[in-house]
Amino acid sequence: MEVSRNWRLQSQRYRMEGLRCEQCGTVVFPARAHCPQCAGESFAAQALRGLGEVYSFTHVHDAPAGFESAAPFFLALVRLDEGPLVTAQLTDVEREAVHIGMPVGRASCVKTASVAC
Ligand SMILES: [Zn+2]
Repeated sequence: MEVSRNWRLQSQRYRMEGLRCEQCGTVVFPARAHCPQCAGESFAAQALRGLGEVYSFTHVHDAPAGFESAAPFFLALVRLDEGPLVTAQLTDVEREAVHIGMPVGRASCVKTASVAC
């Protein structure tokens, strides 16, 4: 990713900053020009806590180029408490513990999974 694009996405990616539609309250992440629910174009910044639950997951054994050293790992779709669905690597979790509906907490790394941003 080029430096300028990385700079523009810094708040969004590193601080998990989403947008809340000012017409209907839908929270979107990543940012987009139009609300997926009402097509509204007016948004306010919405901090995302990173808490949610596993919507779906896979256990990756054959990792793509550049991620070989991390394999095997869990890749999950996480439904955040604020509503958006994000892709995240699950860390600090035992293989047998991962299941759909499993709570995911960004700040708790020992007993539950955390979202790697
Ligand atoms: Zn809306």
